[in-house]
Amino acid sequence: MDDTCAVCADALEWVAYGPCLHKEVCSTCIIRLRFICNDFHCCICKSESNTIFVTKALGDCTRMISDFKGLGGVNGKEGKVGECWYHEGTKAYFDDFDHYKMIKAMCRLSCNVCNKKDGGSKEFNSVEQLKGHLFHKHRLFMCGLCLEGRKIFTSEQKLYNRAQWTQHVRTGDSVVDGSESERGRFTGHPMCEFCENRFYGDNELYLHMSTEHFTCHICPRQHPEQYEYFNS
Ligand SMILES: [Zn+2]
Ligand SMILES: [Zn+2]
Ligand SMILES: [Zn+2]
Ligand SMILES: [Zn+2]
Ligand SMILES: [Zn+2]
Ligand SMILES: [Zn+2]
Repeated sequence: MDDTCAVCADALEWVAYGPCLHKEVCSTCIIRLRFICNDFHCCICKSESNTIFVTKALGDCTRMISDFKGLGGVNGKEGKVGECWYHEGTKAYFDDFDHYKMIKAMCRLSCNVCNKKDGGSKEFNSVEQLKGHLFHKHRLFMCGLCLEGRKIFTSEQKLYNRAQWTQHVRTGDSVVDGSESERGRFTGHPMCEFCENRFYGDNELYLHMSTEHFTCHICPRQHPEQYEYFNS
């Protein structure tokens, strides 16, 4: 199977969808949008999904649920509900326990600085709370774009002081980001030439350009390789 996620372009292994039944986006992209950005809209049709269902991506054989109320609705309690597992933080039902556990761990919010100091694992209730703690207690920042775009646990996000963060965003080579091999091919977050907003990567930038700005004749000429990639 070679279906890819409509947002991050990775191979689709797990999908998450709401009542609109758009199953083109991977579970980690949807979960990050819901958990980190508080965005409960479907990436494809923009309709709001109160609850979502997460299941293995099997192309046309992907398990399709239409009775979302029957699953338990939005007021479910964390953990096992019927034959599914409910993740409260993202209002998501999983039919696979291991994937539920993985996502739950990905969404765990604790401060790495404090963890290293006293081995404590105080948990925060929201990303905003953790951000506030990092800033007030340690004068450190997480990169918002990496938070939304990097497929790693929240607790693995790098922490920057203000100058390091600026350099990270512009060129990607701050001290915190490490050596060239540690950074992969990261050279900072690309900026949209039209509105000057920055995006996690070229994929996200292209998606933004094609949805927020009218697709124009300049883009394919400026980035022929991306244009071809997205039309293939
Ligand atoms: Zn994805
Ligand atoms: Zn949809
Ligand atoms: Zn701390
Ligand atoms: Zn970043
Ligand atoms: Zn823009
Ligand atoms: Zn253009």
